[in-house]
Parts: sequence; structure tokens; C-alpha cells
Amino acid sequence: MIIILQPDMTHNSQAYKDLMNHLDNLPNIQVRVHEEQGVQQVLTELYLIGDTASLNLDVMQQLTGVERAVRVSAEYRILGRRRDERRPTAFEYNGVRFGQDNLNVFAGLCAVDNPTHVEMMLKVLQEHGQVCTRMGAYKPRTNPYSFQGHGKSCLPYVFELAGKYAIRVIAMEVTHETHVQEIHAALEQTGHPTGVMLQIGTRNTQNFELLKHIGRERHFPVLLKRGFGITLEESLNAAEYLASEGNTRVVFGLRGMKTNMGDPHRNFVDFAHVPVVKRLTRMPVCIDPSHSVGTRDASPEGLLDVMHVTAQGVIAGANMVLVDFHPVPSKALVDGPQALTPDELPVFLEDVRIARDAYEKRVANVRVLRKID
Ligand code: PEP
Ligand code: MN
Repeated sequence: MIIILQPDMTHNSQAYKDLMNHLDNLPNIQVRVHEEQGVQQVLTELYLIGDTASLNLDVMQQLTGVERAVRVSAEYRILGRRRDERRPTAFEYNGVRFGQDNLNVFAGLCAVDNPTHVEMMLKVLQEHGQVCTRMGAYKPRTNPYSFQGHGKSCLPYVFELAGKYAIRVIAMEVTHETHVQEIHAALEQTGHPTGVMLQIGTRNTQNFELLKHIGRERHFPVLLKRGFGITLEESLNAAEYLASEGNTRVVFGLRGMKTNMGDPHRNFVDFAHVPVVKRLTRMPVCIDPSHSVGTRDASPEGLLDVMHVTAQGVIAGANMVLVDFHPVPSKALVDGPQALTPDELPVFLEDVRIARDAYEKRVANVRVLRKID
């Protein structure tokens, strides 16, 4: 059950203390306080967990300070959409807005290899007005003998160079909670020249202890990749783990599903789920065309499959594109064969813009039909 408090109720008021005291004394019920930054005010919601079937909804609704009590049968209590649409579908981090209504491109290296390549990439991003990138320092690899990423040793130069080229947010995968501490320490050491969005990769979507840890870590927003071999519902529940521990700044990433039905692509592209995730939850939705497609194959008219699927995701309303680039793909230590090159960046960005314009026109078109304001 969720109890939504009246907006003007402060935590040090007597009414709040009396209410909490009453709820704490209910048998077999635990109370978890959740605060949601709304457009104009902070909404406080109390999550009652345990034997809530024994509680009477009308009685709960009559308690002083309670605006509404709702029985929740649906999943995704925090990140899900409910009829109460006052809850936000966007957040801001380090000056960049992440919402279900806008779009950010994160082009960059799958894996950081050396400062020269990092700088070449960041420079070209700045030249094309980009303020976000991807840079992998911790790489989970199938083969234990493959390059595992430079780890914390590369963080200072990556962050300093990002600052030099005015990059505000770097998507960076973490596979263990110590990586978060290392990122914190390196940002501190370099004077916070940039920001980091922690990425949880597809292999860790159901690493519940990692999710709980990162959920308690409120400083960084999170990009949670869909698990490549589990249902969408299971992956959305994984996102909810982050929120249930306190971190609601979560972007949900589609990156293709592992099945040979998608051959010859590396994964079966699942971007038809962009609008589904937006309907079921309040999370902005990211697409990862590189790890979905996994090659530089192109169609006869010359468009790379990576660009085709990017356009498909964007025209369906995607809010973030995570895409591999490398200045010299033949020298990349991870995923060179799927990387685009800096000279392809302007064409890629223009293709994204064309698809985004088309999406916006599609939304306007349907609004006329349905007479929505
Ligand atoms: C990545 O984005 O570098 C990555 C490894 O992605 P995924 O977890 O989706 O495989
Ligand atoms: Mn990769």
C-alpha cells in the first residue's frame, strides 16, 4: 500500500510524528519513506510493506495528514506510471536534462585505451556540439584473457580531458561497488571537471546486491541496461530495485536480446519496446545500436545497419542513444568492428536529427487526430 501525504506536511510537524508512530505500531508492517521532487513541491509517499491486506483503505485514508491511500497491485511502484501523473518523467544531472520528452546522444569509446584516442574523440564531440559521451574503464568480458579495461588508472585523464572539452556527462559501466568509490575519488581528485552516469551492463541487470548498492548511491544517475536473456518485466523490476533503495534517476537501456533469431546482427534488436517502456514507466529510454547490431554492415543504399536501427529507435521516441565510436577502430581494444569513426559523426548526428524531427511530427499528427492539447 502507498500512502500519499498532504503536500504541506513537514517531517518535523507533530501530525507527521503521530502518523509515523501509528504506522510503526501496526503489526507486521514496515514503513519506508520515499520523497519525490515534483514540479512545484516535494511529495512524500509512505510505502507500507508486509501484511497490508489486513489494513482497511478507508481507515488509512482518514488518518490525519494523509491525502490518499492506494493499494498497489502493479509492479514498479516507484518508477511505474500511475494515474497520478504529477510525478516527474525527467531529471537533471550536471546541467543535462534526461526526460521522456527529449533526446541526448552519448557517442564515445566502448573502452578507454589511451589518452590520445580519448582526446581525439572528445575534441570531435565538442566540435559538433555534444556534451555527453561514453567511456568504458571497467569492461566485463566473456573471455577471462581479454582486455578488461584500464580501470581506475585511466579515470583522472578521462575526467580531465572531458572537462577540457566541456563534456558534462560520461556513461561509464561499473561492475562492482568499489568502482563507484574509485569514480568518486577520481572526480574529487580532478576537481569535478565532468559528471558520470553509472552504467549497469546487461550481464549485471539482475546482480541485486550491486543494484541495491547503486540504489543507495544518490549522487550519480544510472543507465540500467536490459538483461539480454530475461523478460522485459524482469529487467524493469531490476530498475525498480535502484529506485526502491532511493535512486530514482534511472534511464532504461535497450541493447538487443541474445538469440540467433537476430542473425546476422549480434543481438536481436528490440527497439520496438521504446514506447512500451515509456508507457509502463517514467524512465527515459536509451537505445544502444552498437551492441545490438555489432557490425559495420550497411544496406545497399549505403546506410549502416547501426544507423538504421538508431533511426528506428529515435522515430519511436527514444530519449538517449549510446553509440560506439573510435578514432582508429582497427586499434580499438574492444568492439572495434562495430565502431563508427569521427568523420561519420556529423552524418550520424544529422540522421538522428531527421529521425527525431519525424518522431515530433508523428506526435503532433496524432495529437490533432485525438484532439489532445
Ligand atoms: C557496453 O555498453 O559497453 C556494454 C558492454 O553493453 P552491454 O552491457 O549492453 O553488453
Ligand atoms: Mn562494447
